[in-house]
Amino acid sequence: MKQLFAIFGNPVSHSKSPLMHNLSFQGLKFDGCYARYLLEEGSRLKETFFSLGLKGINITVPHKEHAYAACDVLDPFAQKVGAVNTIVEKEGKLYGYNTDAPGFLKAISEFENVKTVLFLGAGGTAKSTSIILKEAGYEVTILNRSGDRLTYFKENGFETYTFEDFRPKPYDLVINMTSAGLEDDALPAPSDILEKVIPTAKACVDVIYGKETPFLKLAKNQNKPTKDGSDMLLYQGIIAFEYFTDHTFSFEEIKPYMQKAFIL
Ligand code: NDP
Repeated sequence: MKQLFAIFGNPVSHSKSPLMHNLSFQGLKFDGCYARYLLEEGSRLKETFFSLGLKGINITVPHKEHAYAACDVLDPFAQKVGAVNTIVEKEGKLYGYNTDAPGFLKAISEFENVKTVLFLGAGGTAKSTSIILKEAGYEVTILNRSGDRLTYFKENGFETYTFEDFRPKPYDLVINMTSAGLEDDALPAPSDILEKVIPTAKACVDVIYGKETPFLKLAKNQNKPTKDGSDMLLYQGIIAFEYFTDHTFSFEEIKPYMQKAFIL
């Protein structure tokens, strides 16, 4: 019987996930179908999931915390970071996972000899990715516009700064973890700060995909290697697909099919 999957978000029309997963189902001859669903009320996630007869979902902005709350069983990492972006139904129970963070870790693993990382931003994505990077041995420093969001990072042992108290020093990687540049032309931090941290970086990374953000433009102008959020999106999708298909396929088997979504 065909298994049904979806992405829940608001907005959701821009999402590449349906194409990524449907190309993979087709290529791997798995009887599945993946749609996008505009979920307006995050509190209705669980009842919507069951009323649509779904086997699994991905969850995007702004419902990752509702997704966490909706799960009956949490993967230990998802539990630690308090955010779920993949849910699979098994025997009537919802199992929750976070694939954004391992996807991001894999995406930056192409940069060699990297130890110190500066995160610009302290939102939900920064939370899960900072924890996985720390567990992998990176030293992550968090710089955010406002101080309120820094509490979580302080409690988890990260060095944290706002723009006002930041004293720039060299970092191997500088990463835009904010939504600055997504729908505007904003930089993630004041240019006087960026002009100090970009020149000493080995590379600059943005989690935003599908466009060249002002941050990446600035880094390119300074002849730095850059990387946008496409690989993060691809890798989190492959890891989600592994969960959706109960690990019937390996990462390397899924990759060529899911990758096609980025050239279409
Ligand atoms: P959140 O809303 O949780 O956090 C937003 C963060 O951005 C906050 O730190 C906020 O700072 C900061 N910010 C927003 N606008 C500005 C600005 N103009 N100047 C400086 N700081 C700003 O967002 P998420 O963590 O959920 O998402 C962050 C980004 O990650 C988004 O662009 C999203 O598209 C991307 N993403 C990419 C994925 C991928 O697969 N490539 C997966 C998941 C997310 P403050 O606290 O001061 O408000």
